[in-house]
Amino acid sequence: MKFIVDSMLGRLARWLRLLGYDTLYYPDIEDSLLLRIAREDDRILLTRDTHVIKVRGLKKYFLLNENKTFKQVKIVINSLNLKDFSIMSRCVICNNTITEIQKEGIRGLVPEYVYQTTAVFKRCSGCGKLYWNGTHPEKFKKKLSEILA
Ligand SMILES: [Zn+2]
Repeated sequence: MKFIVDSMLGRLARWLRLLGYDTLYYPDIEDSLLLRIAREDDRILLTRDTHVIKVRGLKKYFLLNENKTFKQVKIVINSLNLKDFSIMSRCVICNNTITEIQKEGIRGLVPEYVYQTTAVFKRCSGCGKLYWNGTHPEKFKKKLSEILA
């Protein structure tokens, strides 16, 4: 399942990426282009804007009436029955996939104590951002367990 979100849902996009879902988000995008990408790329449009959907007659969309990101995540997971989570597989910044890399190559690029205490490192194939197990803060883990409870 692939998504595209409207410009009001950037934080939701980050969450979906954290869960491993291919989610496009552009902070500045024309409605017509948003809808075109959704159609051509066969993505579900997540939107807060009823107008867009009515005018353009898009078939695959999900309308969110909720303002709070945390609740939006929960609603999307439950309503669309998302369960194939793949945490740490997709970059939250640019949506590209992240893959495991040779540890030796990144010495000096992460804090030394992280390098010493972490076995597995991953890198985004798009923007190059490095990920490791400690990348996601406790706050995120706590929120996630609340959402999935
Ligand atoms: Zn990236």
